[in-house]
Amino acid sequence: MTTTTETLVAPAPRQRQLRTEIPGPASRALQERRTAAVAAGVSSTLPAYITSASGGLLTDADGNVLIDFGSGIAVTNVGHSAPEVVDRVRKQACWFTHTCFMVTPYEGYVEVCEALAELTPGDHAKKSVLFNSGAEAVENAVKIARAATGRQAVVVFDHAYHGRTNLTMALTAKSVPYKHGFGPFAPEVYRVPGSYPYRDGLSGPEAARIAIDRIEKQIGGDQVAAVVIEPIQGEGGFIEPAPGFLPALSAWCTANGVVFMADEVQTGFCRTGDWFASSREGVVPDLIATAKGIAAGLPLSAVTGRAELLDAVGPGGLGGTYGGNPIACAAALGSIETMRTSDLASSAQRVESFVLPRLRALAAETGVIGDVRGRGAMLAAEFVRAGTSEPDADLTKRVAAACHALGVVVLTCGTYGNVIRLLPPLSLSNELLDEGLSVLEHAVRTEVRK
Ligand SMILES: *Cc1c(COP(=O)(O)O)cnc(C)c1O
Repeated sequence: MTTTTETLVAPAPRQRQLRTEIPGPASRALQERRTAAVAAGVSSTLPAYITSASGGLLTDADGNVLIDFGSGIAVTNVGHSAPEVVDRVRKQACWFTHTCFMVTPYEGYVEVCEALAELTPGDHAKKSVLFNSGAEAVENAVKIARAATGRQAVVVFDHAYHGRTNLTMALTAKSVPYKHGFGPFAPEVYRVPGSYPYRDGLSGPEAARIAIDRIEKQIGGDQVAAVVIEPIQGEGGFIEPAPGFLPALSAWCTANGVVFMADEVQTGFCRTGDWFASSREGVVPDLIATAKGIAAGLPLSAVTGRAELLDAVGPGGLGGTYGGNPIACAAALGSIETMRTSDLASSAQRVESFVLPRLRALAAETGVIGDVRGRGAMLAAEFVRAGTSEPDADLTKRVAAACHALGVVVLTCGTYGNVIRLLPPLSLSNELLDEGLSVLEHAVRTEVRK
């Protein structure tokens, strides 16, 4: 295929547009091909096939323009085709696509690690190692913690999600669809209760006491290599622990020689209104796993942390053929520059102050949203049967489907499948936020009456 300048300029619509039903005939034809060729185990929330995306809008094969409240699961924080990302990726692809950092290295990898040392919480000496996926980063963080401590046990929490590889399946809480039928799982993983203010009614310190008591009595503090935790749980339901929970756990880890490992794969890179969610309560993790928002969708992930922990693994103990691919590193550097120059952490706070009051009003009006929560551009509504706290997964599914039919991409999550989560690109305009929210409000009002 010859590439002309013309084919490099993608369409840039300004608003939602419904040309056909969603998915339309062109998407349905593609879906038929997909069903014949693609494994059933990989599913899609909304099978509208995307041909271009920009400005928080997705254009599909039928010419429909959808508002993106998902960012490809918290990945396109800087947008789908941010100029700084596109320019750097284009240049890097022309110069070279791969050498393997483990064979002959290149500067981009080093530059990303320098940026991570600067941006992550804490001013201690830090080092990083790069991988491709979030699961790979979490799994390697556990390897590092075990090598550094000489201990084996890993503590995780109810509602946790850490990935789909064998070790990260063991760390993940929910059986269907993530673990069901895929055992045996890795040993020496212990699950304890977390903090879920809407459902446990506990203060942060109270919830931490219960978790720590469980660890001390059932595992033994001196057996634990790492406590692995999402500062705000993602797939598990956008559960923000009560204030004081994370600081108490972190302090206990420090006192007991346990590595406090923050899985910031979903919460990182300005998503929650801070560069990293841990820093909101001044928590300084020993290790941080990052991925999703780091490189605008190019496969890149990282483990960053105390230099002495990272250096506990000998040469050759960490790595991978593609880890820290040069084009992915170029994308990360472009993303980080965009986050800095456009102050996307503040932009995420703007999203929060625009969206949260609307969700709270919708909860008060309809009575079927038991809890509204989240921070920055990581916000959620938990659906329940009116007057109870009983999860309503069916209503949640219907509301999401109604939004999809009207051209707004929302995602669901939660152990009980009863949470609608909003993850717009951080720069999404108030106009598009308003329009997307109006669709969501309409969908809830309509579905509640059914
Ligand atoms: C998505 C996610 C992962 C797994 O990342 P992949 O890139 O899908 O492997 C791990 N932890 C958290 C918190 C996530 O949200």
